Amino acid sequence: MTNVKDIFDLMPNKPTKKDEELIKKAYSVAFSAHEGQKRNSGEPYFVHPFETAKTLASLGMDTETIAAGLLHDTIEDTKITEEDIRKDFGDDILFLVKGVTKLSTLKYSGYERHVESLRKFFMAMANDLRVVIIKLADRLHNLKTLEFVREDKRRRIALESISVYAPLANRLGMGKLKGEIEDAAFPYVYPKEYTEMEEILRENKGLCEKNLFEVSDRLKKELEKNKIKFTEIDQRVKHKYSLYKKLLKYDMDINKVYDMVALRVVVDSVEDCYRVLGIIHSVWTPLIGRIKDYIALPKTNGYQSIHTTVFTGSGAVAEIQIKTKEMHNEATYGVAAHFAYKERSKNKKKKDGGNKLKFQWIEDLKNLQYSPGQPKKFIERLHTDFFSDRIFVFTPKGDVVDLPEDSTPIDFAYAIHSDIGNHTAGAKINDKMSQIFSKLKNGDIVNIIINKKSNPSNKWLNYVKTTMARKHIKHYLEKNTLLNKLKSFGV
Ligand code: MN
Repeated sequence: MTNVKDIFDLMPNKPTKKDEELIKKAYSVAFSAHEGQKRNSGEPYFVHPFETAKTLASLGMDTETIAAGLLHDTIEDTKITEEDIRKDFGDDILFLVKGVTKLSTLKYSGYERHVESLRKFFMAMANDLRVVIIKLADRLHNLKTLEFVREDKRRRIALESISVYAPLANRLGMGKLKGEIEDAAFPYVYPKEYTEMEEILRENKGLCEKNLFEVSDRLKKELEKNKIKFTEIDQRVKHKYSLYKKLLKYDMDINKVYDMVALRVVVDSVEDCYRVLGIIHSVWTPLIGRIKDYIALPKTNGYQSIHTTVFTGSGAVAEIQIKTKEMHNEATYGVAAHFAYKERSKNKKKKDGGNKLKFQWIEDLKNLQYSPGQPKKFIERLHTDFFSDRIFVFTPKGDVVDLPEDSTPIDFAYAIHSDIGNHTAGAKINDKMSQIFSKLKNGDIVNIIINKKSNPSNKWLNYVKTTMARKHIKHYLEKNTLLNKLKSFGV
């Protein structure tokens, strides 16, 4: 059954006596508060907060967050009051528990509910990210026990997890949690596709792994010969939902997915990453266009690593990912990596209760305008601006502009300045004259050609991806139709 020691064992940093005492206290308070309550599965209710706390511990979250994870359902579902928690655990933990409780009480239904939930998330994130991380851990356990929930509710929860919770975890850089949430929800949202993925993995995984085993053997010898220290070389299997999304992109052609199983090389320094890349390419021929340097150009969620795909002989290919230990931790734990209790033990102010991490994009999300009655618009904007895949393009001077996938030179121009956007006449992409409607690719160098007489037209609206460009174009068009009308009246 449940044992508080399981929580301690999962914490990446050994807890102090004081930490252990706090967690033990939260454990016993929550345990007796939920006594007699049962989950749909028939298990004692306490298993749920206990599993939530275990996830938080394994993510390396601070002690207060783990304690709040144990207590997260007490205010809502038991006799325990806010005052009790304040007395026993103090204001910080009460703040976290209340935050989680507030997130789960929603007034609306359907699409409006979806938006309400998102907006509450963003407000909570801006106040204290830890509230959201507890909620994600809470959701993960609910997903794992979803088979015991009523069917209509089951689908709603699973769908919401894939469309809201997983993208949030991803945006927070928490790759491990994101993958787990998606894979737990996947079979309830797309049962047929889930089975297909299981079959594809069963049929192909073995062969890939065998191939990679030989590659890793050879690579280890090469690294030793070149005196490069590596912490580990291991194989990572792609999460099922992530494999499904990739297959959709490639018309379900499994032969185009090179990273179903990938080799992961972890070394000490950034310099060594590039040395390893050189060694790999001197042994095996790389596939053209498959070298991705996310160290020089990290993904928007902070992901860093070098990926390359190489021919390993007799038609087989292998993807190899090279990173440092820090990059590996970041990709696994994301923001959670910054909450380790060691770093936060001092310098605690009441108001921003340890939430020292401020992200501009979270502030932006909080301020995202919502016009009541138009939930679809709100979600569309959200998806293009914050959760879609991003590309990085450059100005001729080498400044990086970060845009959603499929953006055009018009989006790029408006990202630089509205005046440049409003007078875009043409564009050079990588020194070649190009259409202002062409889709930009990662790494493109874009030079906007300006003409004072050029102005936005209605057509532009069909080709832009960013909310910013759309807003400026609309604003321009509205202003001008008004001016023209006034002119026609002789004003
Ligand atoms: Mn819960």
